[in-house]
Amino acid sequence: MSRVYNFAAGPAAMPLEVLEEAQGELLDYKGLGYSVLEMSHRSAAFQEIIDDAEATLRRLLKIPDDYHVLFLQGGATLQFSAVPLNLMRTRHAGYVVSGNWSRNAWKEAARFGRADVLASGEESGFSRTPELDVLPDQTLDYVYVCQNETVYGTMRRGVPETGSVPVVSDVSSCFLSLPLNVSRYGLIYAGAQKNGGPAGVTVVIVRDDLVGDGPALADVTPQYLGYRLQCDKGSMYNTPNTFGIYLCGKVFRWIERTGGLEAMEQRNWAKVNLLYDYLDQSSLFEGTVEPASRSISNVCFRTGDPKLDAAFVEGAAERGIVNIKGHRLVGGMRASCYNAVSEEAVRALVAYMRDFESAYAG
Ligand code: PLP
Repeated sequence: MSRVYNFAAGPAAMPLEVLEEAQGELLDYKGLGYSVLEMSHRSAAFQEIIDDAEATLRRLLKIPDDYHVLFLQGGATLQFSAVPLNLMRTRHAGYVVSGNWSRNAWKEAARFGRADVLASGEESGFSRTPELDVLPDQTLDYVYVCQNETVYGTMRRGVPETGSVPVVSDVSSCFLSLPLNVSRYGLIYAGAQKNGGPAGVTVVIVRDDLVGDGPALADVTPQYLGYRLQCDKGSMYNTPNTFGIYLCGKVFRWIERTGGLEAMEQRNWAKVNLLYDYLDQSSLFEGTVEPASRSISNVCFRTGDPKLDAAFVEGAAERGIVNIKGHRLVGGMRASCYNAVSEEAVRALVAYMRDFESAYAG
């Protein structure tokens, strides 16, 4: 078996232990004689799997009892619609645009009601997280932020001050990278394919009072997207992504047994700081994000010369360092250092950067 150093932005590297465990159970799950892939979602065995995944996630994130946990499909992108459809009770929400993901969410919300841009990072080229300087209008249905902008490599520290207005956050690319104070949010959601598990599962964590009696725009909301219905049906209004949820549960357990989110955060900062420290002293490479907004997951950098960037990416692959090309919107390089990326992998990347830089200087 040969495994490379995989810095993909998502779907991302999975913990090897989890893949091996799943491989061991693939044909015969716990003596049942069939695979989780072949299991009814209405069976007791699957109910145990989804219950365990939820319980483990609740322990990891210390999720308060008045929050529901949903395992849905449609990716984070479908939540761009589900959020306004469910929560826009007065058809007026506020959006903080900190990169392309929050911009996409804002555009989608504007299809359903008034979506004000409360702050934007556009002027800085999205090189830092825009802050909310004033308390927003207290009649807004919610304030929306994206906690970690995967493409630009910025991460918001904490939660903006919004008074009594609930905060909704897309945490896809920092989900389970570090602890999160769930009670400061009305709703958070994450596509699982970075730190949570495979693509095809979206975790939604929503406070009960926001779910209400049903979606705000009940007449146009597809049944599937109604949070009330999904809460009442335990994420099983229809057939869920059974195998995906099973793998998420295994990833959650892996995080728990490797020390939980505090330990994960320490390891993650230790890893990405190897890169940020190198970038800060390099005369060839530059980091593209201001230090106070740097992501714990996605490290974006460039040489400033697209040809040199391409040569760097190509040379990396020859050393077994893959998926470090920047997103097509921004170019350059991006090393996504999610939970399953080892410190050894990051050290290999830094060593290669050093070699590349001295070859270039020489
Ligand atoms: N939000 C963020 C922060 C992302 O990083 C991504 C994808 O990478 C998305 C939303 C879109 O996710 P999906 O492809 O699951 O719809």
